[in-house]
Amino acid sequence: MESACFLVGDTWSPGKSGAIFDSCDPATGEVLAVVPDGGYDDIDAAVSAASEALADRRWTGVSPAERAHLLWRVAELIDAQAAEIAELESRDQGQPLALARAVSVAGAAEHFRYFAGWCTKLDGRVPAHSRPAALNYTKRVPVGVCGLITPWNFPLLIAAWKLAPAVACGNTVVLKPAEQTSLTALRLARICQEAGFPPGVVNVVTGGPEAGKALVAHDGVDKVSFTGSTEVGRSIVRASAGNLKRLSLELGGKAASVVTADADLEAAVAGNLRSGMQNSGQVCAASSRFYVARTRYAEFTERLAKAAANVRLGPGLDPATEMGPLVGEAHLSTVDSYVRSGLQQGASLVTGGGRPDGPLARGSFYRPTVFADAADDMRIAREEIFGPVLTVMPFDDLEEVAGRVNDSPYGLAASVWTTNLATAHRLADQIDVGCVRINMVAGIDPAVPWGGMKTSGWGREMGAEAVDDYTEVKSIWIGLEGA
Ligand code: NAD
Repeated sequence: MESACFLVGDTWSPGKSGAIFDSCDPATGEVLAVVPDGGYDDIDAAVSAASEALADRRWTGVSPAERAHLLWRVAELIDAQAAEIAELESRDQGQPLALARAVSVAGAAEHFRYFAGWCTKLDGRVPAHSRPAALNYTKRVPVGVCGLITPWNFPLLIAAWKLAPAVACGNTVVLKPAEQTSLTALRLARICQEAGFPPGVVNVVTGGPEAGKALVAHDGVDKVSFTGSTEVGRSIVRASAGNLKRLSLELGGKAASVVTADADLEAAVAGNLRSGMQNSGQVCAASSRFYVARTRYAEFTERLAKAAANVRLGPGLDPATEMGPLVGEAHLSTVDSYVRSGLQQGASLVTGGGRPDGPLARGSFYRPTVFADAADDMRIAREEIFGPVLTVMPFDDLEEVAGRVNDSPYGLAASVWTTNLATAHRLADQIDVGCVRINMVAGIDPAVPWGGMKTSGWGREMGAEAVDDYTEVKSIWIGLEGA
């Protein structure tokens, strides 16, 4: 069993207080590593290291071309260590190895490659102003020290999608991974070191909510980029007010999927199952409430439930596994309590609804679950469960369905399954979310902005929009007629 350390400046530290916690394999409950439980003093040291690296220009002084090389080198090192990192992610988080390899690890490398390209394109502009005898130009400058706080569902990928644009734009960072899954973030920090990043540019402090709170409240931090629950997002808004930090918030969701009467049902069942069950439903954009045209409702529900019941559960490292465990026992209890609430509120359980029997019973496994006969106001239809629980409801006409989809505090993602182009465009227009997917299960792409409306968050990750979020615009006037 490994005893992990975190990175502050150029030092791998066990933490100032000596406090530790276990990082466990959710498929077996086995302890994989003991991890330092960082507190205020560790965060303070990491923020100082990041501030120093900013103040002495050891990072902004690196030319854009050289910075691009360093980011590209990180991607190459991730690729070179892909098999090992994927295994680490699968064991620590529970995701099937194929998902870890294709989405988490390959995706992390792609984010570094994409943002490597941006290093040499952070141009300003020369505005067409109306002041005679003066020149104005603008520059994009780093925001400063960025606190990056990540959740446990895609630990490496989400760390990469924050870290890559932050450092590409010349910022220095303190990354605080989720306490359940710290191991691949630590590996990423080591890779940045191996790639040749100057000390203090990338710092990682492991720990729980207290470490996160210390980072959010710290006056030396200029921006916080947070991915996690809406509830914690709200507390971050309040706690960051001291020095008016810039905030990006990628929060919860309750993605709807609309299946119209003319939809290709085979594709809709397969796509919705994948969207709802990927990573055991622990995906912020997972489709979890389904509005199906009444004429196809019974057939869709039956086919979805049959496919869900056939999903093969197992440890992430077993190549036959289609769905791994939930991240741990505490989360399993939350998911199960939602299922109980569905039953109490009168929904019909079509399949699933508990742990599997047999050898998997000792891990945090939960059977793919489908509810029918649910109502819009039930908790299973309104609240984010973050587990493999799908709720199917009928609708009668398209006018009605957009209103029902929008009647949610969340606005992260939605899907539409239809063969009618006009319906597709109409619903894409009417549904209030940050990302609409038509006849497909969209993944994340580093070039495409990602983020939510309403209580799903503020700002966008990825694409040119992330560059906007990790830079400030500075305007410079030059008098051309002397003093
Ligand atoms: P969480 O909010 O409990 O924790 C997220 C992170 O915040 C962890 O690192 C945690 O230690 C830290 N934290 C907890 N309390 C804090 C506080 N008061 N101040 C600062 N930091 C604090 O979320 P989770 O359970 O790890 O992740 C699941 C949630 O993340 C779901 O709601 C999911 O929808 C959301 N999520 C959103 C996206 C997106 O892109 N919108 C992506 C993935 C996950």
